[in-house]
Amino acid sequence: MNEKKTDMTATINQLIQLQELLIAKEQRATASPQSNLALLDKNIEAMKKCVAPKVLAEFERLQKKSQIAIVPMEQGRCTGCNMTLPVSLVHQVHAAEAIYHCPSCARLLFFRDAASSAKNIRPPRKRTEAPKTGIAKFSSDALMVPDLQGTDAESVIRELAGVLKEAKYIDDADKLVKAALEREAIDSTALENGCAFPHARGIEGGALSFAMGIAKKPIAFDSRQKASTQIVILMVIPTAASAFYLRLIAGFNRVLMVEKNRTALLGVDTPEKMWKLLVKMTAKDIP
Ligand SMILES: [Zn+2]
Repeated sequence: MNEKKTDMTATINQLIQLQELLIAKEQRATASPQSNLALLDKNIEAMKKCVAPKVLAEFERLQKKSQIAIVPMEQGRCTGCNMTLPVSLVHQVHAAEAIYHCPSCARLLFFRDAASSAKNIRPPRKRTEAPKTGIAKFSSDALMVPDLQGTDAESVIRELAGVLKEAKYIDDADKLVKAALEREAIDSTALENGCAFPHARGIEGGALSFAMGIAKKPIAFDSRQKASTQIVILMVIPTAASAFYLRLIAGFNRVLMVEKNRTALLGVDTPEKMWKLLVKMTAKDIP
């Protein structure tokens, strides 16, 4: 690796981390408006200081416009807008001696080996099928786990990733678990109301998807906090759906901040009943 590339790889990694921190902050503010954002703000400021001012200004300009400012190039495509990139640009992004823009959506591009991340393999809807509405667009009764066996974040995420793999929504549970745990390390997604929203971004392929689990006994999702998490939603987010995902989180938050709804979910005993209840509960907030 030459020196130019080493520097650029460091910058790209800093921008990716900065983007994750900014999205984590927005997610926390959306899902739990009263939460304390001071630590995230501190980490965001520290990360900004690592990036050259010119690059940072460019990144912030793009981030204001579309939230996702830097996206992986996979199999010659920009995952932000799905455009096939010119071959010469593909080589340049691969070589990473500078930061390049997608000619279509203007986002910054970085190279990611398609084999390194899980894929969403859910087949597209058949022409003969009626269009799905509400949460049925993202999940199904096969992805409901009314009695989680896991006792911490890792085991629960592993359990839900296994269900997504089993139902043929994703191709590789291990890669999904790894990505979701990396995200938890940035900022725990567990909220004070007993819900947690672990997720992995950049799982390209199908649409946004989620699996949901109920822990009959509260678990310590964030090892620094006491055991209080009972409802866990693991989401698989393609890069292009990143903005939509926040609307989905906001919808779930409106539903799950109602204690009556949480109590009803904790009482179900089969995946079918759990799904039926969740569909009914979310019909208004997640149309
Ligand atoms: Zn693009």
